Amino acid sequence: MGKNTCYMCEREAISVEHVPPKCFFPEKKDLPEGTDYRVNLITVPACEEHNAAKSKNDEYLLALIASQMENSEVAAGHFSRKILRALEHSKGLRKRLTNGARKTKIGNEHLLALKIDRNSFYDGLAKMVRGIYFHSFEQRLLTPVQIHCPQMWDENIAPDKHVRRLCDIWYKAIAREPVHGMNPEVFSYQLLRSDSPSLVVMKMVFYSGVEVLALSGDNIDGIPCA
Ligand SMILES: [Zn+2]
Repeated sequence: MGKNTCYMCEREAISVEHVPPKCFFPEKKDLPEGTDYRVNLITVPACEEHNAAKSKNDEYLLALIASQMENSEVAAGHFSRKILRALEHSKGLRKRLTNGARKTKIGNEHLLALKIDRNSFYDGLAKMVRGIYFHSFEQRLLTPVQIHCPQMWDENIAPDKHVRRLCDIWYKAIAREPVHGMNPEVFSYQLLRSDSPSLVVMKMVFYSGVEVLALSGDNIDGIPCA
């Protein structure tokens, strides 16, 4: 195994893949003079299949993550420009985002509550976790990945107390690890690996606000893995 193998499978890599996808990082032309969020982006080698399979999902994933943000100017600005532009141009993305959405009212604000295609969402995040892992250790992450995104827990998928407690414990443990990422306004992560028991914990933060906790190992119980 090495640089010439795909980060997801044993096939030969034919290209590089950005982790997170490049579209997550606003382009210079959309930013104030002198600001650049595309500094030293992380890339991993990918085979044809895994590169192509992922790119279809990237904008959808970006739209879902950016739409969770209310506090970050970067995400808000990025959402309005990049996503709205993509929505204008892509009927498919528009349909996918608004499928099953319903109008809702919070306070005086009329909002659109999105119905999330959870499989795509978790799958996309799990691929990022595998990408970061490959980038960090130059080997594939072979165990199942569990994704927890407390900001998106709603009535239908709120996990049980056991899982919530597990997340609390790992959030505390990973807080001591160094923060990585050259463009923390867009993306940063922390990583913890233990060999016995085999366990990988990763905390990813998007746009300084949307937090995702990922757990991977041989023996993790809780909610479904991607
Ligand atoms: Zn592959």
